[in-house]
Amino acid sequence: MITVPQADSILEKNPVSCPAVRVPLESAAGCVLREHVAADRDFPPFDRATMDGIAVNSASFLRGFRNFPVEGLQKAGSPALLLRSRNGCLEITTGAVMPKGCDCVIPVEYVEMDGRVAMVNDEFQARPGVNVHRKGSDARKGDILLRAGCRLLPARIAVAAAVGKSRILVTRIPAIALVGTGDELVEIDQPVKPFEIRRSNTCALAAGLTLSGYTDAKRFHIQDDPKKLRAGLKSILRKYDVIVLSGGVSKGKLDFVPRILEELGVTVLFHKVRQRPGGPLLFGKTSDGKPVFGLPGNPVSTQICLYRYVLPYLHKEIGLAPRAADYAVLSEAVTVKTALTHFLPVAVQFAQDGRLNAAPVSPQNSGDFVSLAKSDGFIELPAATFRFRKGSAHRFYGWINIS
Ligand code: AMP
Ligand code: MG
Repeated sequence: MITVPQADSILEKNPVSCPAVRVPLESAAGCVLREHVAADRDFPPFDRATMDGIAVNSASFLRGFRNFPVEGLQKAGSPALLLRSRNGCLEITTGAVMPKGCDCVIPVEYVEMDGRVAMVNDEFQARPGVNVHRKGSDARKGDILLRAGCRLLPARIAVAAAVGKSRILVTRIPAIALVGTGDELVEIDQPVKPFEIRRSNTCALAAGLTLSGYTDAKRFHIQDDPKKLRAGLKSILRKYDVIVLSGGVSKGKLDFVPRILEELGVTVLFHKVRQRPGGPLLFGKTSDGKPVFGLPGNPVSTQICLYRYVLPYLHKEIGLAPRAADYAVLSEAVTVKTALTHFLPVAVQFAQDGRLNAAPVSPQNSGDFVSLAKSDGFIELPAATFRFRKGSAHRFYGWINIS
């Protein structure tokens, strides 16, 4: 049996990395960027009016001039007009290029029109540059705007679109097989006998993966039968990039997964971790280097092990830049009975002081996934400590992540 930090270090020493592919920007939401994106021109690319109003030369206003004859309309999307008279003005729309000879926009709210003369009220304070978004003030041509390793969230998609990246280099999302095991488990749309239960684990795994951007996951189920397990896993190991099993990895008479994996050429790099829940966790690699996770079948263990081990491993695999850990603060003291690392489901809330408070939601045991549904994630309580104070801060893993 190894400790949680030892399991982390074995995972870290056995990385795999997904290839990059060029995709249309429309399909890149949530993907990890694999190239730097540079500004193809200044941002903004021209002196840009930020308000609807009139464009003037601020020097005229500062000399006391208030009534500006209108020379024309500077529309967004048209080339810059020229202000002919120093004391004149051009009507202007938001997003238009500043006309030549103008350096300031007086918003419509301060202007009253008298025929073709714009009269500006005294509340307005003109200065050069007021309501003008200066060319190049956000970024210069050639500046790196997005770095490889970031996730393409909406604001980053906007930047990529703005520099004309209609196709963009991202990580190819790995094809993941989710394999449930067990004779007691029936598909969720099938009738269930009194001694059977429904296959909820692979549904939870698929949901957790989808929410984290791993949209190419397929569910399977195999009975507790060595022959079926061997045949089923043989074909799955060949076709998928990542294999996540649930169940069949503990010490029971029908827990065949570790043995069959080894028969199929998987090198088991660890099996059993000093943690609760999730003690029987297994990690291995196929002969061609694909990662295989064997998650304990108890629903609470399966879900926690996905977030604690599988997702962080996949995040590295897809080239996501590392992010500092999240912490939450215990809202009551917690006592544990064993020297293991404990993963404690919690409901969290940001307090008025900005701290993330975590209230324990204790399942009765690792089969009680109904209680888990009341939680927002879990905290990690390090091994060999038995009492954790109210107010102490611990690593937090949320069911929804912002990386
Ligand atoms: P195992 O790890 O196979 O010994 O399973 C431990 C417990 O988890 C058993 O009570 C199983 O019935 C339950 N279990 C295993 N797989 C699933 C699943 N896909 N959905 C719901 N419960 C499961
Ligand atoms: Mg089982």
